Amino acid sequence: MLAKKILIVLLLSNFFLLPLFLKGSQKTNNLQKECESILGNRKGCIGIFDLREEKIITIVNLGLFKTRTVKPGSLIKILIAITALNNGKVNPFDIYCCHGEDLFHNSKFKCWTKDGHQSMDMVNAIAQSCNLYFYHIASKLSLSDIYRTYSLFQFNERSPFNLVGELPGLLKEVNLDIEKYYLATGRSENLLVTPAQMLYLISVIAKRGKLFDSKIDLRSKTYEPIYNGLRNSVINGTSKQANYIPFMPAGKTGTFSEQYNLKTSAWFIGYAPFNNPEIAIVVFLEKGQGASDTAPIANRVFKCYYKLFHQ
Ligand SMILES: [Zn+2]
Repeated sequence: MLAKKILIVLLLSNFFLLPLFLKGSQKTNNLQKECESILGNRKGCIGIFDLREEKIITIVNLGLFKTRTVKPGSLIKILIAITALNNGKVNPFDIYCCHGEDLFHNSKFKCWTKDGHQSMDMVNAIAQSCNLYFYHIASKLSLSDIYRTYSLFQFNERSPFNLVGELPGLLKEVNLDIEKYYLATGRSENLLVTPAQMLYLISVIAKRGKLFDSKIDLRSKTYEPIYNGLRNSVINGTSKQANYIPFMPAGKTGTFSEQYNLKTSAWFIGYAPFNNPEIAIVVFLEKGQGASDTAPIANRVFKCYYKLFHQ
């Protein structure tokens, strides 16, 4: 009799749970379809990682997502900032003044804005993506400091998502001091990443290090300037076109060119909501600029997810 009752309860609960499950997967299907239409016929890819379930829920253009290896550009400024905080060699509240160009390692380096960003601390430098601030902090770090942090993200291997047919990126160690500066702004030929690896990177940041079996711990208050920089980037920095206000995103743009090529490619990585992240996203475009092309796409992706899962 008891067994019969249990059976009935199980059958009934299945009956009620099944529509709920279908509803959830229907939303995910819709998210995939809408992201396909957001990317349209542009060459690039979009990936969305569910930070609570710890699984990828959307990939538009899987082939490119798992096999295209390119420079990370300014996305890597997040890691050079983490390296500086890990080593205690830089006070994130110290001000560096960006005048548009400066000398490092006897070479002239330029910022992306000719007039300079003026007073930059770490939070502002992440938000405005000031090149010279990151060259300045690279000058205080050793190459081995940088390799130690960067190698935690396994760029030489496939991403921890471990997708079928996925390619590894590249982190080739060279013994030239000037390489520090190229590694600080993602311009080195010896550091190449896939969009899958950049989705992993921002997912680890959003989870403060606690993702899969990562050996990274970013829970200390020491790392607050990273999170605040990513949030400010969306509020008033290079990522402001990604700011879908109801979902409170944080993120970072990147723009880079391949050697001998005037065409630029573009990145955006980010997560939302800032205080209790649910999803992390990557947007990559073969042709474009971070602030004006990938950030507006990210805005539409955040909006689409929010409308499907919060309304
Ligand atoms: Zn600057």
